[in-house]
Amino acid sequence: MVEARGIHKHFGPLHVLRGVDLVVAERELVFVIGPSGSGKSTLLRCLNRLEEPSSGSVMVDGIDLLDRRTDLNAARQRIGMVFQSFNLYPHMTALGNVALALRKVQGKARAEAEARAMAALERVHLADRAGHYPGQLSGGQQQRVAIARAIALEPRVMLFDEPTSALDPELVGGVLQAMRELREGGMTMVVVSHEMGFARAAADRVVFMADGAVVEEGPPAQVFGAPREARTRAFLGQVE
Ligand code: ADP
Ligand code: MG
Repeated sequence: MVEARGIHKHFGPLHVLRGVDLVVAERELVFVIGPSGSGKSTLLRCLNRLEEPSSGSVMVDGIDLLDRRTDLNAARQRIGMVFQSFNLYPHMTALGNVALALRKVQGKARAEAEARAMAALERVHLADRAGHYPGQLSGGQQQRVAIARAIALEPRVMLFDEPTSALDPELVGGVLQAMRELREGGMTMVVVSHEMGFARAAADRVVFMADGAVVEEGPPAQVFGAPREARTRAFLGQVE
C-alpha cells in the first residue's frame, strides 16, 4: 500500500532524512518511534507530499506521488492524516466539520455529505455529539472528530502523527480505541506515537528511527522485548 524508498530530505543545510525505506502492506499497522527530531513527522509528511523529498520514491496504492503528472489532490484523498492538533473549525459543528471535507474535497452535495459525515461520526462513537461545536467537546472527542473527518473521505491508508500527545491522560484511551477499531476494520495505518502499550497490543511492526534513519524494525515483541541495537535499548529505557 505504501512503498517509500531511499527517502532523503534536506532543509537547507539540515539533512533530516538519510535514506529511509518504509514499506507498508495492505491492512498492516506500522508504528514509528524515535527521539524528538529524528525525522518521524517529516517522513509522514513525505508520504502524502506535504513535504517534497529531496530524493527517493513514494508510491501509495500504486500511485507515484513524486511523478509530476500525478494528480496530487486526487492522490491525497487516498491518504488520511491525523495530527497532534485537531484543527477543527470552531464555528462549525462536529457534523459540519466532517461534512465540509466531503463537500470541498469531493464535491458532494450537502445531504450526501452530511449522511456520510454522520456515518463517519458513528464509527468513532460520536453520533450523539454531531451537533456540538468543538468548544463543547473534550480534546479526545475533538481528535475523534478529526479522525472521522479523515475516514469520511474513505482513504486507503491513514497516517497518524502523535494523535494523543496533546491530550490529558484520561482522554487518550478513547482515541486509541477509535484507532484500534479502524485497524480491526482493515485500515492500513502508519502511526507515530509514544503510546508503547498501544504499539505492543496493536502494531504489526515497530520501526525505530534516529537521526533520520531507520535503526531497527521488527514485530513489537522483538523490538520492545529484545531490541538488537544499543540505540533502541537506550531510547526504550528512557520512555518506558
Ligand atoms: P520528529 O517528528 O521525529 O520529532 P521532525 O521530522 O519534526 O522530527 O524534525 C526532524 C528535523 O527536521 C528536526 O531537526 C527539525 O527541526 C527539522 N525540521 C522539520 N521541519 C522543518 C522545516 N520545515 N524547516 C527546517 N527544519 C525542519
Ligand atoms: Mg514529530
